[in-house]
This record gives sequence, C-alpha cells and structure tokens, in this order.
Amino acid sequence: MKINILLSNRTEYNDIEFEKQFVTPICMGGTVFSLIAIFINTQLNFGRVLTIIPYISLVVFAFLYYLAHKGKMLNLVKWLTVLVTLTLVNLLWYYNFGSHSPALYLFVIIFSYLIFMLDGKQLLIATILLVCNVVILYYIESHIKGIVKNYPSRLARIDDVYTGVSLYLFIIFLMMRGAKNTYIIQYKKARRADQLKSSFLANMSHEIRTPLNAIVGFSNILSEENLSSEEKKQYAAIINSSNDSLLRLVNDILDVSMIESDQLSLVLGMCNVKELFDNLAETYLLKLKDNHEIKLIHKENKQHVFVKTDCTRLQQVLVNLLDNAVKYTEKGNIEFGFFVEEKYLKFYVKDTGIGIKGHHIGYLFDRFYKVEDDNSKLFRGTGIGLYLSKRVVNMLGGEIWVDSDYGRGSVFYFTIPKTDFHIENDELISITSENHLADTQKQAKILIIEDQESNQQYYSAILKPGNFRLVQAYNGMSGIEAFKKNPDADLILLDLKMPDIDGFEVLKEIRKKDRNVPIIAQTAYAMAADREKCLEAGFDDYIAKPVQREALFNLIAKYLPEEKIIHK
Ligand code: ADP
Repeated sequence: MKINILLSNRTEYNDIEFEKQFVTPICMGGTVFSLIAIFINTQLNFGRVLTIIPYISLVVFAFLYYLAHKGKMLNLVKWLTVLVTLTLVNLLWYYNFGSHSPALYLFVIIFSYLIFMLDGKQLLIATILLVCNVVILYYIESHIKGIVKNYPSRLARIDDVYTGVSLYLFIIFLMMRGAKNTYIIQYKKARRADQLKSSFLANMSHEIRTPLNAIVGFSNILSEENLSSEEKKQYAAIINSSNDSLLRLVNDILDVSMIESDQLSLVLGMCNVKELFDNLAETYLLKLKDNHEIKLIHKENKQHVFVKTDCTRLQQVLVNLLDNAVKYTEKGNIEFGFFVEEKYLKFYVKDTGIGIKGHHIGYLFDRFYKVEDDNSKLFRGTGIGLYLSKRVVNMLGGEIWVDSDYGRGSVFYFTIPKTDFHIENDELISITSENHLADTQKQAKILIIEDQESNQQYYSAILKPGNFRLVQAYNGMSGIEAFKKNPDADLILLDLKMPDIDGFEVLKEIRKKDRNVPIIAQTAYAMAADREKCLEAGFDDYIAKPVQREALFNLIAKYLPEEKIIHK
C-alpha cells in the first residue's frame, strides 16, 4: 500500500547511511596510519619491504575511503577493508615478533569494530575468518621454529609492548566513541521519526475526518426540501471548501509517497513566471476578500519572465507557502514575489504572522514535523507541506530556507536555476494575442468524450459560465464519430478509461485527421507518471479528476484565445 511506502521506505537509505558511518572512519584511519607508517619507516630506514607495504596500503585505503564516502559498492568496500586490514595485521605480526609483541591485540580491536560494521551472516563469516587466522598464526608460531624472531633485548620488548598497548587504547577510544555516538544519534533519530509518524497518523485522521464530517453532514441537509436558496448556496460552499482540503491532503500524501519511492518525475516546459504570479495573486485576493485583517501584497512584475521548469510543481510550492502564510497570520501583511538573480530566480513569501522559534527552524522541512506550541492555538495540518516543498524545490535544482522572527513573522525563500531564462516585454505578448483575435471571433466549440453521465452533467454545469458550444460523446467510438461531424472543434476533453476503446486509441484516430486541435486528457489516475504518459502519447495537456472549475478554465484559457472564454 502507498502509505506503507510513505512510512517505511526510508529504512534502506538509512541502513546505507548507518553502514557508511562505520566503514568511512576505518578507511580514513587506515589511510592516516599508512601515511604515518610511510613517514616513520622511511625515517628509520626499515628496509624495502616495510617501506613498500605502507605505500600500497595508503593507495588501497584511500581508494576504499573514496568509495565509502560516495556510498558506492559499500558491500565490496566493507569486505576489501576487512581483508586489507587482516593482511596488514598479519604482516605486522610477522615483522613485529609474533606473540612476543602486542600485534595480536590488534585482532581484538578489529573484531570489536567489525561487530558494528557487519551484520548477520557477514559478521559470522568475518568471525570465522578471524578465528581461523588466529589459529593458523598459533600453529605457525608453535610448530615452525625460527619463523618468528625474538626481540633483540628484554627492554626493547617491554618498550614496544607498552607503547603498542597505549596506542591501541587510544585507537579503541576513538573507534568506540565514534560507534557510540553514531548509535546514540541513530537511536534519537529513530525515536523522533517514530513520534512524528504517530502524530502524523493522528493528525491525518483528524484532517480526513474534519472535512468528511462537513461533506457528509451538509450533503444530507442539502437534500431537505425546506431550505432557502441562500442556505443551499452557503452549504454548497462549505462542501466545496471541504472537498478542496480533502483533495489537497490526498494529493500531498500521494506526492510524498511518490517522492519517497523516487517515482515523482518533472514535466519541464517554458513557464511564464509573471503569469503564474498574477494568477496566484488573483486566487489569493479572492480567498482573502472577506478577511479584512490581512492585506495581500503582490509586487507586480512588468516584464514576462520565462524559465524552463515544471510550472505545476513551482506553483505547488508557492501555494504551499502561501497557504501556510494565510494559516499562520492572524493580521498584517502577506507579501510574495520574486527576484531575478545572477544564476537563480529567488522567490519569497513573507508574512507578519506568528513566526517560528529558532530551535524549530532546523526541523521545519522534516517529514511530518509540526510546531506544537502550547502557548498558541491549535493549527490544523499534517506537517508534510514544507517537507514536500523542500523535496520539490530540490528536484527543480534549487534550495529552500526560512528566516523567522518569533511573534513577528516569517519569510520563506526558495530558488530555481535560470535554465533557458529570458524576458519578454508586454508589447510582444499583446501583439501575439491581437493576432489571435483577428481570426477567431466566434464561439468556442468543446467536444467532451466521457462515458459517465454524471461527469458529463458536471462538465455542462461548470462550463456554463463560459461562452461554449458543447458537443458530448458517451464512449470512444462515438467520440471519434462526433469529431468527424465537428472537425471545427476548438478543444477536446477526452476521458482515458472508457468501456469500448480507451482514450489513447481515440487520440490516435483524431490525430490522424487533425494534428493541431488541443486534446486534454482527463482521468482519475492522478499520478505524475500518468501525466507524462499522456503527454508522450500526444495529448496537449492533462487534468486529474475531480476536475475543479478553476483548473479547467485555466487549462481552456491556455489553449483558446481569451475572447472565446467569457465568464458570465
Ligand atoms: P502543516 O500542514 O502543519 O502546516 P507544514 O509542513 O506546511 O505543515 O509546516 C510545518 C510547520 O511549520 C507548521 O506546523 C508550522 O508550525 C510551521 N510553519 C510553516 N509555515 C509557517 C509560517 N508561515 N509561519 C509560522 N509557522 C509556519
């Protein structure tokens, strides 16, 4: 189930991070030791063999460190580290007078570290390897006379053993402290993740039940006969806004689960940032029209700024930030806009709301993180909005951060790279739309191919305020027929799943006759992959069900000249 991915698929990632934290220091330690050995052995003229060995180990450990650091081939790195370390310890044992010296203690040190580095079967194999190694050394030393030399003097041995043991104690201290710290960090992380997960589930239950309560309750009341039209309007508005918040929640959860399973892909295209901002300003002005405590400030940009990015995702981040600004601001200003910087476009959403205490800021963009402040009122939310925004911004190639002053307000910033960036001024744009105007002074015809009667009725209802002529077809074949009879259709809304032939087949047939008519896929499959599949197949655009009136009008506006879309 999707929710499972959402809650658990980070384990694999964390395992790799966890292992990396043990493998990297041991490779780093090996590299540093080899360097020290090269220095000492060359200074003290220890002969060719003892000089070459640290050079080889330096190269090997440095390479393994590089791989471990990058998180590449971690299993191979682990085993090579074990083998190289064992080989070096055996050589040390041989050149350092076998069991007369402290060389054997190194096996104990290595083993205690391997317990952290390896797991399950791997640890068992390494243990057997180490025990066999020690038994073989025992056999060699006790049975082959003269293979292991003795110290030149009793004092030399005492010096070496005590120096060696002191050094090993130091190594053990460093290794074990590192291991303990890593363990404590991971333990705290796991506990925090668990707490966040529990509170997320509780919040989500609340976030689902609250709008559902309104939808179910008011839908029942609406069927009563003695309601005035004013009451009906009011209840329908409540149902609508509850629908919106439920739909947002479902979309957010699906997006998070797609991001976590690496399935969220971007649909890149040229995005008119000015237009996006103007539309957002319009939407939020409307949203805040009855709220006299908040002033929306939108610094209108005179020029049309174009950038190659995923416009829908960019809008999603801005909407998240603006919704938060509205939610966490009781009175004052909400300002939003963007700056064109050298390499990036920098967006900001600024509010004069409750602000955020400094110690929360580091966690704000974490999954499910919500500031539960005892002193403030309870704010609804699941704590995924900012997490989602951060992941999306990162996918777009930018960064997101916040500056906040507790009690006075916050500014959220994010950047996106200026890929294919260019600016056009207003004159150019209006000339293009005037050209359109000249040859399209008639009513727009929209062909709707959709098998569900209720959906057809819904489209008729929501498209009513536009000055459209609607042609409706109730399955794929009749859709193709309808297009043959109405080749002058200005736009086609095409359902993907129909009982006879699917939307892709219908698209192919229509495209054989007309390559240009805008065809918009409409479907209940709201995954990004579906969106891409549609665009690849040749649809001009895509709209997910449930279709919102505003979203549909925006889409139609994108493909039809403005004078054909008349809001009555
Ligand atoms: P939520 O759905 O809880 O709002 P978000 O991920 O969007 O989840 O935000 C996480 C937390 O960040 C919120 O619980 C809130 O405490 C804090 N936050 C976000 N935006 C603002 C803001 N503009 N002002 C104050 N606090 C904010």
